[in-house]
Amino acid sequence: MNPSSQQSVTIIGAGVAGMSAACALAEAGLRVQLVERRGYLGGRASSYLHPGTNEVIDNCQHALIGAYTNLLGFYRRVGVEGMIHWTTEMTMIEPGGRRSKLGPSWLPAPLHGLPKLLSAPAFSLADKISLARAFAVLMRPVSFESTESLGSWLKRQRQSEGALNRFWRLVIASALNADLDSIALPYAAMVIRGLFMNSAEAGAMGMSKVPLSQLYAPLPEWLENHGDSVHLNTPVDGADWSDECREWTIHTRNAEGQGGELKSDYLVIALPFEATAKLIPNLPAAPGAEALTAQIEKHEHWPICSVHLWFDREVTDLEHAVLLDREIHWMYNQSKLQTGRGGHYIELVVSATRAFAALPRQAAIDQALSELVEFFPRVKEAKLEKVALIKEMRATFGVSPGIDAARPTAQSPWPNCFLAGDWINTGWPSTMESAARSGHMAAEAVTAAAGEKRTFLEDDLKPQGLMRFFG
Ligand SMILES: Cc1cc2nc3c(=O)[nH]c(=O)nc-3n(C[C@H](O)[C@H](O)[C@H](O)COP(=O)(O)OP(=O)(O)OC[C@H]3O[C@@H](n4cnc5c(N)ncnc54)[C@H](O)[C@@H]3O)c2cc1C
Repeated sequence: MNPSSQQSVTIIGAGVAGMSAACALAEAGLRVQLVERRGYLGGRASSYLHPGTNEVIDNCQHALIGAYTNLLGFYRRVGVEGMIHWTTEMTMIEPGGRRSKLGPSWLPAPLHGLPKLLSAPAFSLADKISLARAFAVLMRPVSFESTESLGSWLKRQRQSEGALNRFWRLVIASALNADLDSIALPYAAMVIRGLFMNSAEAGAMGMSKVPLSQLYAPLPEWLENHGDSVHLNTPVDGADWSDECREWTIHTRNAEGQGGELKSDYLVIALPFEATAKLIPNLPAAPGAEALTAQIEKHEHWPICSVHLWFDREVTDLEHAVLLDREIHWMYNQSKLQTGRGGHYIELVVSATRAFAALPRQAAIDQALSELVEFFPRVKEAKLEKVALIKEMRATFGVSPGIDAARPTAQSPWPNCFLAGDWINTGWPSTMESAARSGHMAAEAVTAAAGEKRTFLEDDLKPQGLMRFFG
């Protein structure tokens, strides 16, 4: 008999990290208990019924790219990989409406994006030369030993103002959600190589065709069919370890505030860094717990805001666009992207700006609308029917130079207990891919401890074309 089939694991937190660990461990034959504080799955990557608009909205558009192999592996396990809409084309719009299209051509990687970049009116000749020079340097990977910031590296590469404002600040602000001086160069290099250089497949952009929580709707039944359980509205307050029974007792509360207990052989803490810090004082004392707390204290959060607008008519034919030279960065036409939605629902995303996040609600909405009209004049004639502003102040953790020393592995200071969450040391920035990777890393650690080592981490996509020679 499979030895791990008799063993059990409790996973605290049902974000992408917890869900991907749960599915991997259920597949390996462990009895899984997935425990979540909220009444729905998905954590930071989720949707819910917004009370002010009576619409189901994502807490923000979550885009993925082809290089997200672990997230796609998780989607495949649950059977929802077909619910992603893929595109290789990116439209950039200047105030006034002039459009540039970026995307692949028949040329081999990393040259596949070059023809469209060269013909993009959004960039001057100096910008194009600047970008081509920087990309040429990034053909070789940057060592994770480097502690240089992207900002300082860009200065050394003498990037033009246009390249800085219309490419580096915009693309990196969206992907890494921080300002240029707060981003470690190796992470920026990794993102640029993944998005624009390794292959057209790696850089393809995916967006869910349904609200995010609907993506995970099959998960509870999938787990139950494996003999496992999902406990929603069940915050975990702490846990105790018995050396004698070699067993964890997890202390929970239900929706009415009544205490409860769950028992298991293994524990996976799949929480963001600040929730992990809150839990640590309620775990057994262990050498290494203080060091973990010290690592957590080195992390900081960055906000992302989204403005959700419902108009009485179509204001653009585009599915999505990058908006140049203004505070709002991305436009997602959710009525076109999410099948069966109807209406005229536009979502705007503002990343990496604490100033916008600090604006009062009406001022933020007014600014977003006044900027939107510069890109899409039809907004002027349209009637705004309803609006929602979502400010996620703790959207992502920053990947500042030197942050890797503060990212723990899946191993924790406690026996039979493992860590997951986008912030652990996955080599990826704060993304759904990092969360899915962390879940797979924790699942590998659990099965190794259970005496039946399994591999759950998915292979990275292989670089194509000329990039094969620049591993
Ligand atoms: C606004 C916004 C936009 C983003 N855009 C993108 C994007 O476009 N692309 C991308 O790849 N990534 C994006 N991200 C980042 C991505 O959402 C995260 O990196 C990822 O979802 C993190 O997953 P996680 O499982 O590590 O953590 P979380 O999603 O935070 O999950 C942790 C879970 O633990 C639960 N929990 C907390 N405390 C307890 C407790 N005591 N007991 C039980 N449960 C508890 C929480 O409720 C939560 O469900 C975005 C994030 C935000 C907020």
